[in-house]
Amino acid sequence: MERIMALTTSAPKGGLSYGKIHLPINIEGKAKIKPVYTGLCGTDRAEIAGGLPFTYNPVGQDYMIIGHEAVCQVLDIEENNFGIKSGDYVVPVVRRRGSCINCRIGRPDNCSDVDHDIREAGIRGLDGFNAEYFYDTPENLIKINERSMLKVSALTEPVKNVMKALEVFEKLSERSIFTGDDSTYLLKNCLIIGTGSEAFLYAFMAREYRMKVYMTNRHELGEQKMKIIDEISVSFYNYMKDQGPDKVDLIIDTSGDPATIMRFVRKLNYNGVAIMFGTNGAASDTPISGNDINYIVEHNITIGGSVDGSKKHYLNAIQHLEKWNYSEGGAVNKLITGIYDPDDTGIFMEKPSDEIKSIIKW
Ligand SMILES: [Zn+2]
Repeated sequence: MERIMALTTSAPKGGLSYGKIHLPINIEGKAKIKPVYTGLCGTDRAEIAGGLPFTYNPVGQDYMIIGHEAVCQVLDIEENNFGIKSGDYVVPVVRRRGSCINCRIGRPDNCSDVDHDIREAGIRGLDGFNAEYFYDTPENLIKINERSMLKVSALTEPVKNVMKALEVFEKLSERSIFTGDDSTYLLKNCLIIGTGSEAFLYAFMAREYRMKVYMTNRHELGEQKMKIIDEISVSFYNYMKDQGPDKVDLIIDTSGDPATIMRFVRKLNYNGVAIMFGTNGAASDTPISGNDINYIVEHNITIGGSVDGSKKHYLNAIQHLEKWNYSEGGAVNKLITGIYDPDDTGIFMEKPSDEIKSIIKW
């Protein structure tokens, strides 16, 4: 039986170990894949800390390989209709289709029964990507065209969330004229709550729309983050100290904190849109006031949730990363603030100050 090195946890109780394991038994595919870089995110750290009750090990295993952000090289693959060959670089998708109607049309990101219908690599019942190598199906691999962008391609998975959220925004904003009278978003403001990696990626997208972009948090930022913020012409303010813009047209929340979100809802302009992306199951309940509801109703505010993304959003993500790599100079590369080895397990326990995205080099 094949044995491989892998980073594993035991869901949902947590923990982390790096060592030899038997090649997972739940693998169906015949494409042999080796990770080049894997990305580390808050979900991984929360899983290891035992803070995500919805996570579970693959059937028949008492562990799960962690990690759902990766760029990999194909070592060996059977002939397939997706144009993927041995030697290609690919990003494996996280969420795998179940049998509900949305999954059947290729939209597991809109699954109608997430708790029972789908599996997510490194999160729900399916091994993740932090392993010496693993097997997968061609259907679940997205090919990277630009080999010079391998490191940045580790951001494909988080960027696909941005692509989905912006699709949601475009649909929601259609009910009135959202652009200015010059047909553009040039005079529109976008406020991004949070300053983590996902928040930065939303900022790149809003910049591409040519909106005026603000990022906010309840504390000051370190030098490294402020430098990137300046470089991409985004304005940052600490909302404990400063007021920020009077009115905004689009709010994107990456904090998942209800009190924080409600603090900003009344900043939205008429016909404004708020996209909620962040989640925080541990946040305390926040009452919503009658005045908040009046404001939301009278201003035609739309609040939309957005989670995950489908294969088409991964493809969009790759295109946008290529575009940003060109249009924003080195700023996209600078989002990767640390590169670690698989045995640097400390990085999973403690977040370096000023981290945007830490990646593991396999
Ligand atoms: Zn489904």
